[in-house]
Amino acid sequence: MANKQYPFLSLAAVNAPLMDEIARAVERVVRSGRYVGGPEVDTFERALAEFAGTRYAVGCANGLDALRLIFRAYIELGQLHPGDEVIVPANTYIASILAVTDCGLTPVPVEPDTRTLNLDTALLRQAITPRTRAILTVHLYGRCCFDAAMQAVARDHHLLIVEDNAQAIGARCPLTGGRTGSLGHAAAFSFYPTKNLGAMGDAGAVTTDDQALAAAVRAIANYGSDRRYHNIYQGLNSRLDPVQAAILNVKLPHVEAENAHRQAIAEVYEQHITHPAITRPLWSADGSMVWHQYVIQCDDRDRLRQLLADAGVATDIHYATPPHRQPCYSRRWSPLSLPVTDHVARTVVSLPISSAVSLADAAEIAAIINSINLSSDD
Ligand SMILES: *Cc1c(COP(=O)(O)O)cnc(C)c1O
Repeated sequence: MANKQYPFLSLAAVNAPLMDEIARAVERVVRSGRYVGGPEVDTFERALAEFAGTRYAVGCANGLDALRLIFRAYIELGQLHPGDEVIVPANTYIASILAVTDCGLTPVPVEPDTRTLNLDTALLRQAITPRTRAILTVHLYGRCCFDAAMQAVARDHHLLIVEDNAQAIGARCPLTGGRTGSLGHAAAFSFYPTKNLGAMGDAGAVTTDDQALAAAVRAIANYGSDRRYHNIYQGLNSRLDPVQAAILNVKLPHVEAENAHRQAIAEVYEQHITHPAITRPLWSADGSMVWHQYVIQCDDRDRLRQLLADAGVATDIHYATPPHRQPCYSRRWSPLSLPVTDHVARTVVSLPISSAVSLADAAEIAAIINSINLSSDD
C-alpha cells in the first residue's frame, strides 16, 4: 500500500473552507457589469490600509508591479534618480531585485544574517556610498526585517525605506509594534495565490502614509493619468482586478487565523524536529514571523529532499539560485562574492506549512524527518 502523501501546498485545500463565500463574491462582480475598479477594489483598499496601519493602500496587478510602482513614483516625484543605489538583501526572491533594476536604479546586495536569513542589518553601514538613497527591506519567509540598526542608518543617511512585504502580511515589528507594510516609507504586497493572503490569480498593493506617493502610484498604475484622458506620467496599466479584490475581501478577515495556524505548525516542527543534521529556523513566537515558509537547513539537502519525497513528504527550495547567480544578473554582479547567500541557497529546504496542513500532519512529518538516515550509502 502506498504511504500517506503530504503535499507541499494544496491551494484548493487552503481555500476550501471559504469556497462558497468566494463563489458568491465572484458572482457578484460578474453580474455587476463593473469589471475594472469599482466597489470591491475600493473596499479592499480601505480594509488593507486599516489592516496594515497606513493612511493609504493602492491596489495593483501583482507584487512585482507594486515594487516597480513605488520606485517609479519616487523617481517621478524627484526623490530618487536613475543610477541611485538601493541596498537590497542578497538572499531574496528575484522579483525584489527586478523592480530595482527595471527602474534604472542600482541594487547593492548585502549578505544575510545566518540565523534570520534576512538582510544582516549590522552590515548596512559598510554598504553605504555617496549614491545610496534607499533600503529595500524584504521580510523574507514571513520574518520582519526592520530593527533599530536599520532605523538608525536610514535616519543618519536620509534613506527611504521600502518594504517588500510579499511574504509577511500580518507580521508585527518588535521595535515599533506596527505591522509590516507600515514600517518604512512605502510597502509592496503580493497576493499571489501561494502567499499567506492569496488571491486566485495575480494581485498586489502598495501601502504608505505619504499622500503624494499614493497619488503618484495610483496615477502611474492607470496609464499615468490623474484624471480621465489627462496623462501626467508615462504610466503603466497595473490595476487590481475587481474579481481578485472580491476574493481578497472574503479572505482578508481570515489572514490572522491563517497566520496563527502557521505559528502552531511551526511550534510542532520546533518541538519535534530533532534530527542532528538539520538546523531549524530561528524560533519566534512574538508575532514578528508569520511563517510564509518554514525553512530548515541541511548540508546534504538534495539527499534529504529525495528521501523525504520517497517517504511521501513533498518539500520545496526557496531559493535554489540566488539573484546574483541568475543569468540576467551574471554580468552586473560577476565580480561579487556572496558566500553566505551561496551557502543558504545550497542548504535550504522548505517544509509544508499552511492551513491545509493539520497539526497531526506536522507531527507526522517531523517524525518522518527524524527517521531519515543521511549517513548510509544505500
Ligand atoms: C511573491 C514575491 C514577489 C512578487 O510578487 P508577485 O505578485 O508574484 O509579482 C516579490 N517579492 C517577494 C519576496 C515575493 O515573495
